[in-house]
Amino acid sequence: MGRLVLNQLSRSFKNVPVVKNVSLTVEDGDFLVLLGPSGCGKTTLLRMIAGLLEPTSGSLELDGVDITTAPSKKRDLAMVFQSYALYPHLSVAKNLAFPLKVRRAAKQDITKRVETVAGMVEIGHLLERKPKELSGGQRQRVAVARALVREPKAFLMDEPLSNLDAKLRTATRQELAALHQRLGATFIYVTHDQVEAMTMATKIALLNGGQLEQLGTPEELYDTPASVFAAGFLGSPATNLIDAELSTSGGSITVMAPSVEAVLWTGETPRRDVVLGIRPEHLNLHAAGSSAAAPSAGAALRGTVELSENLGSEQVIYCRIGEKRVAVRAPRNQRWETGTAVVLSADTPHLHLFDRASGRRLE
Ligand code: ATP
Repeated sequence: MGRLVLNQLSRSFKNVPVVKNVSLTVEDGDFLVLLGPSGCGKTTLLRMIAGLLEPTSGSLELDGVDITTAPSKKRDLAMVFQSYALYPHLSVAKNLAFPLKVRRAAKQDITKRVETVAGMVEIGHLLERKPKELSGGQRQRVAVARALVREPKAFLMDEPLSNLDAKLRTATRQELAALHQRLGATFIYVTHDQVEAMTMATKIALLNGGQLEQLGTPEELYDTPASVFAAGFLGSPATNLIDAELSTSGGSITVMAPSVEAVLWTGETPRRDVVLGIRPEHLNLHAAGSSAAAPSAGAALRGTVELSENLGSEQVIYCRIGEKRVAVRAPRNQRWETGTAVVLSADTPHLHLFDRASGRRLE
């Protein structure tokens, strides 16, 4: 399969930049997810990779060959469309055979290849059915199989699950992840859905306003967000972000904000404006005054309970801390009355600090 290198890739429409200097490498066998909010340039980037759109500047390399201006057909990349674009009047077998017929392959070669590929994605028992007789997930597999018969260097997918209902989306997501593992193929997949990205990707490229905000494994993005944007985009409820100030006293660094106090590592730091990030699952909720409410290290946020939301398996408690509303995950069996005075605590390793001006992570 393929190793794809994007080098300073940019694209503008009528002088408005939409993708800005994106450089990244997709290794052979990667499942790369291009993730970001609507309009951040994901589809534009994928279309440049597919050869459906020319970059304004920058270059693209596939297995060491410059393909920046190569036509789509010459790239050996298979685009799997949202609608799956299956021919409704043809059986699954005929849908799979179609790309080979176009290439005028010999009949017995076509039959053999269709059988092999159908076996690879486990649709051998569906070959005589028409697309309308298949589930959404099965259709997805047929669409991938049809791309697979051409032996592409990589699969490109643009929000392929967005037409499915929630239950089917989960099932199809799992199927796609399993398929990727089984085939060991390179996948490049566009979505704005963080759960799809977290569950399927081996690598996530998080885009923001056309720029690459962070590139890494799902764990790296989740555990060590490189910016305020990354911290806010991944996670549900979102990371709590609180404006704070850093100061050094007695050798330790103190983070201060209204009703918030946190002691970090020891060392010197210039006083500076920061954003403190804490995920809702990393906060512990205590009644004010309880012995557990006074952590010796880490952060303590003091405030009152404002609202609780029952998610079924757990609850999210929203607390008023200074001017901020802070979300905390809590077990279902705890009752927190509105107005209760509380302390939220978090350990030092779970505190993320970002420079307020640039939004970038402070190490
Ligand atoms: P979504 O998740 O909503 O599909 P996206 O991240 O895929 O968004 P793109 O489709 O790449 O975003 O679009 C990025 C920006 O470029 C948008 O502001 C869009 O309006 C603009 N854009 C895309 N294609 C064109 C075009 N052909 N002409 C002019 N502007 C375009």
